[in-house]
Amino acid sequence: MRIIDTHAHLNDERLYSSVSDIVSNMESDGLSKIINVGYCQQSSETSVKLANTYKSIYCSVGIHPHDASNAHTSNYDYFSSVATNPKLVAIGEIGLDYYYNHSERAVQKRVFVEQLELASALKLPVIIHLRDAFEDMLKLLKTNLHYLNNGLVLHCFSGDSDMVHQFLNIYPVYFSVGGAITFKNNLDKKDVLSHIPIDSLLLETDCPYMTPVPFRGTTNYPKYINFVASKLQEWFPERNIISETNANALRLFTKLNN
Ligand SMILES: [Zn+2]
Repeated sequence: MRIIDTHAHLNDERLYSSVSDIVSNMESDGLSKIINVGYCQQSSETSVKLANTYKSIYCSVGIHPHDASNAHTSNYDYFSSVATNPKLVAIGEIGLDYYYNHSERAVQKRVFVEQLELASALKLPVIIHLRDAFEDMLKLLKTNLHYLNNGLVLHCFSGDSDMVHQFLNIYPVYFSVGGAITFKNNLDKKDVLSHIPIDSLLLETDCPYMTPVPFRGTTNYPKYINFVASKLQEWFPERNIISETNANALRLFTKLNN
């Protein structure tokens, strides 16, 4: 069975010039579909364009917390205008990043909630970026539960098992994992993963970032998702990782069936 990469950035300049090669090799690379994720106005537009060009490429649109201070209602107007595109599966990536703090925290929070509201109005799930902002994220999700009715995924999830349970206590969130699970020091990651329900796990690359071992330190590509799936299969031999995570992706991102 071929894998769905639920979070890639083929719109990044490091990958953009290779998109046609990446797409034409998807079958032999063991990939069935790729969700190309937007993070600002321009990358969102590119994301939509790629989804319109290639059958197996899907897209999301959103303003990343890094770019929150540049967010404008015209961005939201654009997102609304493309929301009915059959290949547009989600709003994202949106969220909070208190590690880099490229935008002020108050602005990040406001722009995040504005996009939760937009996603709810557009009946789309959300793809969430979260770094070093666990408490505030939990609070914002709790107070905005009414906007979460189309589902959400915490992408590149790096929390501990306690965080898994705290999120699940407020909402049936999905957790997406990628190359980081192959890094050294990964024994506690296996433990964290054992706390994520089988029907809540997704696979992603976040390419060109988060390259898995043995290619860590070089550019990441969608095909390297195989190393992520293999690591999980090695840790949980009784499960069928690819079919579980594909089924989860199709349940959360219903337009992936288009
Ligand atoms: Zn990303």
